[in-house]
Amino acid sequence: MGRAFVYVIVGGGVAAGYAAHEFVKRGVSQGELCIISEEPVAPYERPALSKGYLLPEAPARLPSFHCCVGTHEERLAPKWYKEHGIELILGTRVKSADVRRKTLLTATGETISYKYLIVATGARYMLLLLLCNFSHFLMYENVQVILELVVWLPWTKFNFDCIRPGQVDIIKRPKLVNVMQSCTGGNAVVIGGGYIGMECAASLVINKLNVTMVTAVNLRDGNKLPADMVVIGIGIRPNTSLFEGQLTMEKGGIKVNGKMQSSNSSVYAIGDVAAFPVKVVGETRRLEHVDSARKSARHAVAAIKEPEKTGEFDYLPFFYSRVFTLSWQFYGDNAGEVVHFGDFSGNTFGAYWIHKGQLVGSFLEGGTKEQYEAIAQATRLKPKVEDLTELERLGVEFALSV
Ligand code: FAD
Repeated sequence: MGRAFVYVIVGGGVAAGYAAHEFVKRGVSQGELCIISEEPVAPYERPALSKGYLLPEAPARLPSFHCCVGTHEERLAPKWYKEHGIELILGTRVKSADVRRKTLLTATGETISYKYLIVATGARYMLLLLLCNFSHFLMYENVQVILELVVWLPWTKFNFDCIRPGQVDIIKRPKLVNVMQSCTGGNAVVIGGGYIGMECAASLVINKLNVTMVTAVNLRDGNKLPADMVVIGIGIRPNTSLFEGQLTMEKGGIKVNGKMQSSNSSVYAIGDVAAFPVKVVGETRRLEHVDSARKSARHAVAAIKEPEKTGEFDYLPFFYSRVFTLSWQFYGDNAGEVVHFGDFSGNTFGAYWIHKGQLVGSFLEGGTKEQYEAIAQATRLKPKVEDLTELERLGVEFALSV
């Protein structure tokens, strides 16, 4: 049993959605493109999950955050794919790939062949786990999990060091949001202070939980943190296993060139799974942010459709977060010496990173559109900075004057 497509995207997350959008913009015929995704729903924007999805009032729900809502373009609900002749093969895991034969084998036993393959398999959480009344926990591995996965196990078997999905019985799968609501008024512990942990903590507070943020929990030493609920957000691992031994890897991801093309010329990689040359920092990086997923996806499709006209991907690393009423943006690299500026008790403050006498990174909280554009532009231009005290005094004015 098998089907053949000109273009196949494996993975159905943010990068896949934006790649499909770019294919349609550049022209794709009925039946030429398919997306194979382990998730049961069409590609959607992840940032909504730790922000709008957990809100107690008017929470975001699909279809409101399908792909392209994040860039204010037409939203790619399932109907959109149908109208453009794109095959969505959902709820289907690709279990092996043969890049020499240009084929994929799905868990349902179907062989799918391609002319061009775009790998958009993203990354999996090492562990993001939620514990309620110490009688069960939820584990977020990816967004699908955020929407519905809960793994229950008796507290007596619980051990932070040895939880692996294969080791536990899946008895019931209520939604995370229901468990969170059932803990209202209780205590939550959030392990990991990255932006997802921060955003989740803010959502829990808004849902009336008392939140403690820590960086590690060790229940073996006898210490017990009072908690009705625990959330763990300690990072991710790229989903590269389908291609180990077949494609060149770097920085834990699939190494690609400035056209997002891997060591096999028919295979491209985009989003969290791709390690690509970031010109502005002069090295190969793997980035785990939505803007990079969107733009690398568009660039790969441009390179496939119009190779002669498409140059090297020249990406300025960018990411953002929102916690309570705070909202910030970061551009570039956090290397070198950091210079803080602004009023930390007020609305607008930030930081610059100076490396080898040049501005290489900028962070701004509470900026205007014009100020954010200015720090992005200044970071890209990498101006020389000689006087750090003066830089601190000028703050965002420095970026506006570059
Ligand atoms: P993903 O969106 O993770 O998609 C990967 C897809 O591949 C999934 O559909 C998965 O099921 C599928 N897949 C994997 N293996 C297989 C297989 N073998 N067969 C079939 N399908 C497979 N970034 C920001 O910049 N700002 C934010 O505020 C922000 N907030 C976030 C909040 C949350 C809760 C999450 C989870 C992420 C957030 N991110 C944010 C990160 C951003 O969403 C990711 O960088 C982005 O989703 C990466 O896109 P991707 O397509 O590479 O991977």
